[in-house]
Amino acid sequence: MKDMRIGIGYDVHRMAPERDLMLCTCRIPNETGLDGHSDADVPVHALIDALFGALALGDIGQHYPDDDPQYLGASGESLLRKTLALPEFQGWRIGNADITIIAQKPKLAPYVPQMREALAAILGIGADRVSIKAKTAEGLDSVGHCQAIEAHAAVILFPKEEA
Ligand code: MG
Repeated sequence: MKDMRIGIGYDVHRMAPERDLMLCTCRIPNETGLDGHSDADVPVHALIDALFGALALGDIGQHYPDDDPQYLGASGESLLRKTLALPEFQGWRIGNADITIIAQKPKLAPYVPQMREALAAILGIGADRVSIKAKTAEGLDSVGHCQAIEAHAAVILFPKEEA
C-alpha cells in the first residue's frame, strides 16, 4: 500500500484597485481586489501548491506559468479543477485541507462558511474536512498595511483503496 502524503503551500498577491477580490472561489465584497495574471485567488493558489507538493510534482508556476496567455484571467476554481483532474491525482483521495488567509481588510469571518462549502464541493469532500482560518497581520508589514493578502495551505492525501 502507498503511504499517505502531506503538502504545504503559500501564496501572496498585491492589492489592486478595479479588481474583484476572489478568495476560495468566492467573490468577496471589497473596494479593492488582488493583482495577478489569473484571478489571484490566493488561498486556492496556496492549496494547489500544497496538492502539487504532496506528490512532489513541482509548483503552480511550473504547471500554470503566469506569462502563458491561456491562464490570463484564469479562475482559481478552473486551476484547482484542472489540477485535481491530472492523472497523477487519480489514485489519491484528500483527507482534509487546512487553509489560513491573512488579510487586514476586509473581515473575512462572515464568508468562511461559504468558502468552506465552495472548496469542499470542488475537492469532493465534506465541508467538515475543509478548514479556513482568517487572520489579520495586526497592522504589521505589507499585509497589515492592506497592500497584500497572503495564504497558507496544508493538505493530506491518502491512497484510494483498490477495488
Ligand atoms: Mg498566486
